[in-house]
Amino acid sequence: MTLTKNQMDILKKYECATLCDFLSVYPLRYDIYELSDETHLVDGQSVILEGYITSSLKSVHYAKNKSVTHFTFDAMKSYRVSIFNRHYLKAPQDPLRKVTLIGKYKHPNQVIASTLYYQPLVELGSIHPIYPLKDKTPLRSIKSMIAKALSVCQNYNHDPLPIDVIQSYQLMNQAEAMKNIHQPESLQELMKAILRFKVSEFLEYHIQIQNNRLRVVHSKQQRHLSSDSITPIIQSLPYTLTLDQQDALHTLFHDSNQPVTASALLQGDVGSGKTVVALCLAYAYIHAGFSVALMVPTEVLAYQHFETAVKTLNGLKDNIFILTSSTKPSERKIMLEYIKSQPSLVIGTHALFSDDVHYNRLGLVIIDEQHRFGVAQRMRLIQKGIDVDVLSMSATPIPRTLASVLFADMNVVTLQNKPLNRGSVQTHVIEGNSFTTVLDDILETIQRKEQVYVITSLIEDDGESRSAMSVYANLKKAFGKQFEIGLLHGKMKNEEKNKVLNAFTSNKIAMLVSTSVVEVGVDVPNATRMIIYDAHRFGLSSLHQLRGRIGRSEKSSICYLINPSQDPLSFQRLQVLVDSHDGFEIASQDLKLRGPGDLIGLKQSGLPSFQFANIISDYDLLIKTKQTALELLQSQSKQHQEYITQVIEQSLKGID
Ligand code: ADP
Ligand code: MG
Repeated sequence: MTLTKNQMDILKKYECATLCDFLSVYPLRYDIYELSDETHLVDGQSVILEGYITSSLKSVHYAKNKSVTHFTFDAMKSYRVSIFNRHYLKAPQDPLRKVTLIGKYKHPNQVIASTLYYQPLVELGSIHPIYPLKDKTPLRSIKSMIAKALSVCQNYNHDPLPIDVIQSYQLMNQAEAMKNIHQPESLQELMKAILRFKVSEFLEYHIQIQNNRLRVVHSKQQRHLSSDSITPIIQSLPYTLTLDQQDALHTLFHDSNQPVTASALLQGDVGSGKTVVALCLAYAYIHAGFSVALMVPTEVLAYQHFETAVKTLNGLKDNIFILTSSTKPSERKIMLEYIKSQPSLVIGTHALFSDDVHYNRLGLVIIDEQHRFGVAQRMRLIQKGIDVDVLSMSATPIPRTLASVLFADMNVVTLQNKPLNRGSVQTHVIEGNSFTTVLDDILETIQRKEQVYVITSLIEDDGESRSAMSVYANLKKAFGKQFEIGLLHGKMKNEEKNKVLNAFTSNKIAMLVSTSVVEVGVDVPNATRMIIYDAHRFGLSSLHQLRGRIGRSEKSSICYLINPSQDPLSFQRLQVLVDSHDGFEIASQDLKLRGPGDLIGLKQSGLPSFQFANIISDYDLLIKTKQTALELLQSQSKQHQEYITQVIEQSLKGID
């Protein structure tokens, strides 16, 4: 079978090695096409109309690579249609040919079209898979690749799921399910296909988790941690630990001192004070002669933790290091020598598991914001030592019953209550495009010497949303003489980023314009206002994490969500944040309102994410499949064992 150059390019874009791999590029969602009722069209809502193009098509180019095409479209009524960046469209050869128009209705008789099909709706079918479009790959190219793959990939005839599982869950076989996921014949068949994918996802998840439990070592080197060793640290803190923090430390010490390798998940909502717990534990390990690696997802966070660690564990100063990809080679060389020869606390990003890094008796690995790392990355760090204990940290506390299923391989420790010294955090949604309505509050905040975050969804302009660069330029023009304004985004050099963040931390900058790079972990308690532009473009969990940057002191804080979207669903979503401060509740609502397939928002939440299954709405299936997985793991049947081996091999891919 031969592929065109174009098709090869698409494979590359989707990171697929072969055409058959392309079958696992699944639809993000399915659009159900139903004709709109023309007597009840609502301004701003989606419409699907069937009718005739009754004028010529006129295109205007208004910027580089930007065009708009206009024509008249007659259904029951007559509409003026605009469609963007489709200058190549032509009128149908046969003017009496019915076409289908999809887009947004604008009162009184306009349609902003997104798609035009030269076919009537009946010929189009009613269920339409919508795929993730990478680098502007046209949907029709993806669909034709999928069609080709479905026709040539024979290996999908071998069904990996054991036959008794298929029977007891009444599932479609693999080939049928694959066909219906991509080319659903009816809603009923599609639902059956989705069920099959959900069951596989859950089974694989449970098998991997159970397999992790089997890897636990029962006779590791004794740690002999003493809780007395951390007394001076706790006494020198500027606050007292909450009861939850004390309990957590107690549990973590106890687990570490067992002969079994410890694996704990410390979960607590943003601002619950996980860092100090991790640092106290780290201190005890080093005191007992073991090294500790603390891995975080961003360099900004690494620096911040490093500074906190140096301040908090000041007796250890010479044994605390920061290692990232921008550590200078000369410094790195000296540092690596130290790290190899003495018990150290090494804080850093992915650089912590580079080949040339060797730890001195690595006893504990701490992974902050654990969901930001893949299994393979975590494993590579853990494999730097022998029988290493692991502490993972997550900012979305999950209810106990759910946690015991999802994290059955870890001891889940929860910080339920935040430190008591916290002022309130209010959240307001602002309609429109700017924060002029609350400008007074922002200026007063700065006059009180408190600080403000201004968050954008983009670094540079894309014509639709506000970007960090343009917002920064505008604010600087308007207020640059009155107070200091800083800019922070992912494309800046690390040195620059740290400089800006340090200036913000020490209140030399009053207002920080930033992208969501501050989302994870940044801790500047004096910041009490946050303005988020284009809030509708963020996942709810991301917004919750962002909002967690304020409300970190006794002062009261306000988060303003600017929403330019007219879509009622966007207001409904943002209202969840106004009403709730519970990270899990917010993540669950996000799941419900966004529906499956939309993985990005979910990934930020730290809940395990699946392409098809949904841990909230498919909870019963989650429980049922756990039972099945346990049975399969205990079974002597050859087919069952083969399936399990295959699942485990799959999960270990990428780990050397
Ligand atoms: P998170 O759990 O989101 O990682 P952090 O560890 O960053 O939270 O802590 C948030 C803030 O709370 C930090 O400024 C920290 O110094 C402070 N903090 C931690 N524990 C306490 C406590 N017991 N009392 C008061 N403040 C605390
Ligand atoms: Mg944190």
